Amino acid sequence: MTEIAITRTAHPRQPPADETLQFGRVFTDHMFMMEYDAGKGWHDPRVVPYQPFTLDPATCVLHYGQAIFDGLKAFRGKDGQVRLFRVKDHAARVNKSGHYLCIPPIDEAMIVDSIRTLVEVDQNWVPSTPGTSLYIRPTVIATETFLGVHPSSSYLYYVITGPVGAYYKEGMNPVRILASDRYVRAVQGGLGAAKTAGNYAASLYGAEEAQNQGYTQVLWLDGVHHRYLDEVGTMNIMLRIDDEVLTPPLNGAILAGITRDSALTLLRDWGLKVSERPIAIDEVLDAAKAGRLEMWGTGTAAVISPVGELGYKGERYVINGGKTGELTQKLYDTIVGIQYGTAPDPHGWATLLSNRPHG
Ligand SMILES: *Cc1c(COP(=O)(O)O)cnc(C)c1O
Repeated sequence: MTEIAITRTAHPRQPPADETLQFGRVFTDHMFMMEYDAGKGWHDPRVVPYQPFTLDPATCVLHYGQAIFDGLKAFRGKDGQVRLFRVKDHAARVNKSGHYLCIPPIDEAMIVDSIRTLVEVDQNWVPSTPGTSLYIRPTVIATETFLGVHPSSSYLYYVITGPVGAYYKEGMNPVRILASDRYVRAVQGGLGAAKTAGNYAASLYGAEEAQNQGYTQVLWLDGVHHRYLDEVGTMNIMLRIDDEVLTPPLNGAILAGITRDSALTLLRDWGLKVSERPIAIDEVLDAAKAGRLEMWGTGTAAVISPVGELGYKGERYVINGGKTGELTQKLYDTIVGIQYGTAPDPHGWATLLSNRPHG
């Protein structure tokens, strides 16, 4: 594999205090970059000082959105060690997303190495207060300068990272979500299974309307019948009705969340009955009314997010008394324990970083 060149900043900054951290506002001293050109392949992998880049106004990503990204985290345990969570699975997903957008695949080992090397170079930026982490954003954009609609002949893969605050500062906080019978995020046969820019652009209008009605997020229903659950904002949706755990299948319209997979794996480890099948909204409302329902979202940002209220066609349905359910809490505690190295990791999800200095 090509060696990653490292150029260190001449002006290292002081990372902000952990208490001031939010999400996605502060970035570390370095970034990773690597280009693709037709005929040459991916080349020049390197860690460089964090910097803006210039793009020609005709660069195709700015017009047609041929872009994908991913999101994962590094955690500092009480032992001081830094762990990447499921980095190989995230690397594989970069290529899965890229596949839908006609982006040439990147050697998976290089993606892992790009993330590992960057986080090792900036490891003093990984915060240590419980709940905080270093968020990592691999991104690929199409860079050809051409206003025709076709796959680009050149690309930039880059990775930026930044420390982020605890998602739950005062215990888990159930969210209110609105099932939309009007707007659609993605459809089967579309790009719903890719982490691509356009899906988030498509979600903004519906999400804003939900927020105006006092909800945090939209629960997207399927684009054909407006009846079956797809997913929530940047989370997959999961629920428990009596003693069965349900989640929508990977039908091409939803993202194959890695937290979704972690939760399903743990639930099966625990011997619970788990079904990946279409879930109609009426089934959820009936279970909510009968008090047989627990519901949560799964995603890298929040890990597990309890749902305390569901809105649909002008009605509000309280779920599990508006409180965090037992299973929801157990999933959260177990995954977070693996991330910070305080719980056993039987599936080898955490990758320890080396403390060796680079360059
Ligand atoms: C990122 C994302 C998820 C969650 O995926 P994780 O791998 O668990 O972080 C779910 N749905 C959408 C639309 C997403 O963008």
